[in-house]
Amino acid sequence: MTLPDYHVHTSYSPDSKMDPEEAVCAAIASGVTDICFTEHMDLGHHMEMYDRVPNFAGMDETIFRLREKYPEIHIGKGIEAGYIPETAEETAKVLAEQRFDYVLLSTHCVDGLDCGVPESKRGQDKLTAYQKYLETVYDSVMDEKLRPYYDCVSHIGYIAKGLHYEDNSLTYQMFPELFDKILCEIIKSGKGIEVNTSGIDRGGHVLPHPSIVQRYRELGGRIITIGSDAHMSRNVGAYIKETVEMVANAGFEEITLFQNRVPGFVKIR
Ligand SMILES: [Zn+2]
Ligand SMILES: [Zn+2]
Repeated sequence: MTLPDYHVHTSYSPDSKMDPEEAVCAAIASGVTDICFTEHMDLGHHMEMYDRVPNFAGMDETIFRLREKYPEIHIGKGIEAGYIPETAEETAKVLAEQRFDYVLLSTHCVDGLDCGVPESKRGQDKLTAYQKYLETVYDSVMDEKLRPYYDCVSHIGYIAKGLHYEDNSLTYQMFPELFDKILCEIIKSGKGIEVNTSGIDRGGHVLPHPSIVQRYRELGGRIITIGSDAHMSRNVGAYIKETVEMVANAGFEEITLFQNRVPGFVKIR
């Protein structure tokens, strides 16, 4: 069974100390067959540590070495590019200059603040804050500068991880029209969605919520990836098997892997 973990941060990300080799070993130990490193690049992020271009030369050298040493697992070179409207052009330029297997587009910041910081709540009620977040996700998929350079939209529902409210879940039923607009645009532009398992322990469900994954399928979505968003070795491969099952229950017969930014489809069963 193919068990991909397509969202892993190592010490090439500013918020992880995990040695890439440690990540590969943890992946193998947990039964993961395909790992993709998706290091952070959030140009214009208000937290200075995220506002930088990763060490691509170092990443290339490391991945080359690990592929030689661990032929039993596929190792992909990816990136998680944060969407900030003011820096979209600069981000697109960096993405265009590099070779990746897989590129995630993420909305972390809304109106200049990361949804993960307490101040980003700004006294808003849940519906107002979540709607603004989803409108930003919609802007990200409508951004023509970035469109040629990414493959999947990461963790739709990231705001739930901010834990700003008593019940943080973000389901399809809360904003059906807005979700349809986002999902239809993703499908129309030949992109996919990522199902991110980090929401299970923080936020109460995978991101996006299973109801949104199901709707994506109903609308004709086919490209779907799964990632743990691990920043530490103990989270590599977390809930991947269960999430493959969830995706199958939502009606998908295949999951997607990427090589040189070309999607490949693997039967789940
Ligand atoms: Zn992210
Ligand atoms: Zn991430």
